[in-house]
Amino acid sequence: MECEICKTGQPHPGHVTVTLQREGITLLIKDVPARICDNCGEYYLSEAVTARVMQQAETSVGKNVEVEILRFAA
Ligand SMILES: [Zn+2]
Repeated sequence: MECEICKTGQPHPGHVTVTLQREGITLLIKDVPARICDNCGEYYLSEAVTARVMQQAETSVGKNVEVEILRFAA
């Protein structure tokens, strides 16, 4: 698969930190498995991983926090 952003790089498996903004909360999720472009650094998450990231984000919404840092849990 060719990178959709730069059209020249090849995404390779690795891990990224995903940053989300949800209802006033800044959420960082570390060690998320992704495919990362070796040229521009753009990353791609699978549908299953995206769903899991969103689930983890939901657990933080409603807490009285502004910033939360989580580790990805499959
Ligand atoms: Zn790229």
